[in-house]
Amino acid sequence: MGEFELIRHYFAAAPCAQAGDGVALGIGDDCALLALPAGQQLAVSTDTLVAGVHFPDAAEPFLLGQRALAVAASDLAAMGAEPIGFTLALTLPSVAEGWLQGFAEGLNRMASQCRLSLIGGDTTRGPLSLTMTVFGRVPAGQALLRSGARAGDLLCVGGVLGDAAGALPLVLGQAEAVDAVAASLLAHYWSPPPQFGLGLALRGKATAAMDISDGLLADCGHIASASGVALALELEALPLSNALLALLGRQAAQTAALTGGDDYVLVFSLPPEHLPALRAEGWPIHVLGQVREGQGVCLLDACGHDITPAVRGYQHFRETP
Ligand code: ADP
Ligand code: MG
Repeated sequence: MGEFELIRHYFAAAPCAQAGDGVALGIGDDCALLALPAGQQLAVSTDTLVAGVHFPDAAEPFLLGQRALAVAASDLAAMGAEPIGFTLALTLPSVAEGWLQGFAEGLNRMASQCRLSLIGGDTTRGPLSLTMTVFGRVPAGQALLRSGARAGDLLCVGGVLGDAAGALPLVLGQAEAVDAVAASLLAHYWSPPPQFGLGLALRGKATAAMDISDGLLADCGHIASASGVALALELEALPLSNALLALLGRQAAQTAALTGGDDYVLVFSLPPEHLPALRAEGWPIHVLGQVREGQGVCLLDACGHDITPAVRGYQHFRETP
């Protein structure tokens, strides 16, 4: 199968590549064309996943397709943007039709869950890697930035933390768990649902927001520095799933939640007056701590003692000491 037949068969003809809201022209020309309503801004974000770095070479292609798009789409949700479309730059070592079929099915599943249309891409030969660029729209001035947190706001997250980090040893075949525990953690790793609904609900309410990809403490550090504030988190307030607690026990589950990463749950600062209405709408909001004057992130135990760990999350390139 040649490059153009491959593109047509697995991508251009896929359900997720058919006309979508906001897409004036999809796959097939030199560019796609997006139609943006007056008064809206385009939100754009790119993520690359490299085999052997972000996922095992032998990863199930269906799961990989699902996860790659979910991870990219999560950035749109974190801005309070509504989904439009995405491009896919795919580098493949060879044309393995079974692999492509599974990958395209996983991609279609997540694209339809997120209401994102595949609008273009690039197909090249080389070591397996995927780059997705996602496009969304948000009314001008209403995007949720990292920079607006103010002393007195609550620091909140939109779901349980650490499940994906807990799943990683299972994904890598380095650990085993009973079926119910493994299924629940692996579901979060392979198919983290982008929190589009919550992002929308937070517009005009949250003062800062982002999605947790590198670990709670590391990502809170980004909000703290962008906003010029300090964030104080309480260890006992971390929301942990029963599956994670069953697999790891409390202490290791807390570490997974603090530094593990891959959660793709929103973390945001919220003036306290907005909390009751959001909770009444049913959003699973957990208050982790507070925004204070100062700088940096600290972790407090039940007695209010500072127990901030030294290692905060994953970085591809660390500064040398
Ligand atoms: P060009 O040479 O103009 O960059 P290509 O020949 O690479 O275009 O691609 C032809 C069309 O197919 C373009 O519309 C491009 O966006 C689309 N395309 C290529 N690869 C993919 C892919 N992996 N997924 C979706 N669309 C793709
Ligand atoms: Mg061209």
